[in-house]
Amino acid sequence: MKRILALVAVGICLPAGIALAQDEAIEVEGPPPELSGLKAEAAEIVGDNQKLTQEIVDSLFSFSELGFQEFETQRYLTELLESNGFTVERGVSGIPSSWWASWGSGKPVIALGSDVDGIPKSSQMPGVAYRQPMVEGAPGHGEGHNSGQAVNITAALAVKELMERENLPGTIVLWPGIAEELVATKAWFARDGRYEGVDAVLFTHVDDAMVVSWGQATGTGLVSVEYTFDGTAAHGAGDPWKGRSALDAVELMNVAWNFRREHLHPLQRSHYVIVDGGDQPNVVPSKATVWYFIREITADKIRENFATLQRIAEGAAMMTDTTVSRRIVGAAYPRHFNKPIAEAMHRNIRAVGMPEWSDDDQAFARAFQEFMEADEITGLKTEVDDLEAPKEEPESGGSDDIGDVSWNVPTVTLRFPSNIDGRTGHHWSSAIAMATPIAHKGATAGAKVVAATMLDLIQDQALVENAWTYFREEQTANETYLPFIGDDDPPAIEKNEAIMGTHKDELSRYYYDPSKYDTYLEQLGIDYPQLEKPGAE
Ligand SMILES: [Zn+2]
Repeated sequence: MKRILALVAVGICLPAGIALAQDEAIEVEGPPPELSGLKAEAAEIVGDNQKLTQEIVDSLFSFSELGFQEFETQRYLTELLESNGFTVERGVSGIPSSWWASWGSGKPVIALGSDVDGIPKSSQMPGVAYRQPMVEGAPGHGEGHNSGQAVNITAALAVKELMERENLPGTIVLWPGIAEELVATKAWFARDGRYEGVDAVLFTHVDDAMVVSWGQATGTGLVSVEYTFDGTAAHGAGDPWKGRSALDAVELMNVAWNFRREHLHPLQRSHYVIVDGGDQPNVVPSKATVWYFIREITADKIRENFATLQRIAEGAAMMTDTTVSRRIVGAAYPRHFNKPIAEAMHRNIRAVGMPEWSDDDQAFARAFQEFMEADEITGLKTEVDDLEAPKEEPESGGSDDIGDVSWNVPTVTLRFPSNIDGRTGHHWSSAIAMATPIAHKGATAGAKVVAATMLDLIQDQALVENAWTYFREEQTANETYLPFIGDDDPPAIEKNEAIMGTHKDELSRYYYDPSKYDTYLEQLGIDYPQLEKPGAE
């Protein structure tokens, strides 16, 4: 049954001055899902904190940091959390840019996570509906990972204020997805016991919709692995018969894998880059390295394909009289999200609703979709999505190492509406909205949902119990988590150091200064929404 929920009516039971994201009627299914009591107060505090949310979103956007190099991000966020009473540990799991923040005591322990790293070569001016790098060739937030910590921190501060006032027991933990684009840390956090004693993980990720799911998520898990071949150098022309080329081994390995693809299940995804192919043509390469992502729908199939890849690597070494070694760079278990928490979160999603987009936001979204030659020019979504149940037929796609967390503790991912449909993933077009009012409003709406779900977990002991019953009796009854990383695999913390080193000075000229400028768009001199390139015909 459809009905109209007039939020004006909700306003009656709220203190004056409440700033809900939406002040128009929204259409909902079933019984009226109102934010009442402490949830309504949390939404009010989140609304009052929109300036902070915007500053976090814009600051992280301006830092433009790649995985394992999120040091400005770490400095900024940990100082902010410490100044708000959180205890912060830096460099956890031997990862220098990581951190762990906690406040409170006792149960439940609620851990809020979100990724913070960017994408190579995706530097992009925000708020303009065309391609314009801020720094040519530099990294940027071409995934939108600058927004999730703003959601979590805003939600955490609101709930903390209420917990202090009401003397509610519980512990709030905030943690970052470091180097998520390399899926290279969450399995390490899990291995090192970071989620032991945690009752629930609420993870947040940018999207163009407001949605949560339960069960196996769409997409894959993966093993990220580098193979390094060792050969023998020689003069490429003088005495090449003395050489044994490590690059030959890499090329033969890749040829073999590409032939093998035909006989792999179509749900698999695999890709590689050659990170070291030798130094110069007249020196037979004595070292060469190729880096693979091996993705599949289930952990067993990932292991099976990884074993095939391993044999192919050994075969390539045999063919070239080289030797081969391997190194695990990252890992992501297929994700499985918790049903009871997802259901609770979905009720909050319906109560909060989508942000109220301005005409400028919609004009910007449509101009962007036209520029991207999107299939449909839809503008921004105005309705929340249904609760997503597991697909009957699994669907392939990307991975996220939140999968490893989801097999250690009941976990859900809130996807919040800070981006525009029609973008390309891992691409500058995914950065274009990420420091605009669209990103800010989406993060505020997301924070209201996270805060309300935290209050559900704090106030409703049965929800925590049901979450663990589902985890033990449904999720893990027939499947055991066997991590893809070993006890001794170190995190690949040197990754992206060279790229960041090349661009950091120039990027630092663009760091957002909230003490001088209200918004980052103002600092950049962008008259939002800038639909056409100045000077363009
Ligand atoms: Zn992501």
